[in-house]
Amino acid sequence: MPAYNPKSEHAEEFICDEEIQETLEYAARNKSNRGLIESILNKAAGMKGLNHREAAVLMDCDLPEMNERIHDLAREIKKAFYGNRIVLFAPLYLSNYCVNGCVYCPYHGKNKSIPRKKLSMEEIAAEVRALENMGHKRLAVECGEHPAYNPIEYVLDAIKTIYATKTEYGSIRRVNVNIAATTVENYRRLHEAGIGTYILFQETYDKKNYEALHPTGPKSDYCYHTEAMDRAQMGCCDDVGCGVLYGLNSYRYELVGQLMHAEHLEARFGVGPHTISVPRLCPADGIDLKDFPNILPDDIFCKIIAVIRISAPYTGMIISTRESRNVRERVLDLGISQISGASRTSVGGYTTPERHDETAQFDVHDQRTLDEVVSWLLALGYIPSFCTACYRAGRTGDRFMHLVKAGKIHHCCTPNALLTLEEYLTDYAGEATRKLGQEMVDAEMVKLPGPVKDKAKEYLRRIRGGERDFRF
Ligand code: SF4
Ligand code: SF4
Repeated sequence: MPAYNPKSEHAEEFICDEEIQETLEYAARNKSNRGLIESILNKAAGMKGLNHREAAVLMDCDLPEMNERIHDLAREIKKAFYGNRIVLFAPLYLSNYCVNGCVYCPYHGKNKSIPRKKLSMEEIAAEVRALENMGHKRLAVECGEHPAYNPIEYVLDAIKTIYATKTEYGSIRRVNVNIAATTVENYRRLHEAGIGTYILFQETYDKKNYEALHPTGPKSDYCYHTEAMDRAQMGCCDDVGCGVLYGLNSYRYELVGQLMHAEHLEARFGVGPHTISVPRLCPADGIDLKDFPNILPDDIFCKIIAVIRISAPYTGMIISTRESRNVRERVLDLGISQISGASRTSVGGYTTPERHDETAQFDVHDQRTLDEVVSWLLALGYIPSFCTACYRAGRTGDRFMHLVKAGKIHHCCTPNALLTLEEYLTDYAGEATRKLGQEMVDAEMVKLPGPVKDKAKEYLRRIRGGERDFRF
């Protein structure tokens, strides 16, 4: 049996099943251990994070008043690191051709009932214009794995097309990429193409479960998939985004696996994941949720987000439109720092919405327009941010983490949020949203510290005069 070693390059040593099982037993034994839980919460209040064992104990905690403290602390940490900013992005599906056999995904190779579609470069440009015309600046590219239809060259061309497609005020300034695990060489090519974050969801860290859920295709190789973030780091993609698909397996196992993965990246490369996403299994074409006994209730889902927030304060957290408006509202203050808005989860869905029902990867529960999402965030007291500054300013990997850990990233995030919000309000917002937003910009601007405020005011004046794309 492989021994646990967070620095190892082998998946089964840094995600060691034996260590996870022992952690889960330890957490179950201590779920009502008030003294231990209090000491973990005291440590967590220092805002330097927790290890996977400590996090597992908090996740299992069954003392109501301690659970309240867990949620309160998550809110405090969220506020301290991310303030009231929420970054917005949209997914862009390039192709649903896929050779893999993921049993929870309608794009799996054997599904003959779903129409297959791969966007041409002209179609990608049209989708991008549609996204830019809504006001989006940050995309997450999604693509099935198919060596013949979707080789790396296709993805690289798509990235080039996205960055080159501009409208009067619109441009995509950050392309994050969610494609199948690949080679160091291909990660290097993605890095050279100027991607922001490389995203790959683990789906489940439980090897046996993973192999059952991925019976065919290259993705069935658990170790190759689990070691992908290491190869990405070696290929200079130093901002990586992890995530499990909650509902596939026991959430306790997955939470521990997720945190061990973060500890491994930190131990081996000196930098943990840039983001952790929390997708949750939801209905889709040909997928019957009755086949998945680990589906999570909302309360547990919210607690997972709170525990991740406490355990990994430096890591951005992302939630998609898989979740309803209500759930999204509940988790914003518990730890989420990025959300998607007005998403289409089908290939070509922004220009041909009528195709959406036939080819969506999953059902979108939050179907509001971007303007409605922006207006909702403003009404809740959040600053909707279209910021893409860090990777463009070379603040990636350990340079980025250094700023976050020193508590200095605020000085960039807040003015950038206000400036990009101002661009959105001027160029795309409806009347009511513009009014709400302008009040937010004016109210937040005066709170900025001295020299930042002066510069931000100057940029704001220039944006109102027609210039664009200023950043800290
Ligand atoms: Fe293909 Fe990804 Fe769907 Fe798996 S989850 S079938 S790899 S598109
Ligand atoms: Fe994200 Fe950097 Fe912008 Fe802050 S300044 S919102 S960390 S890109």
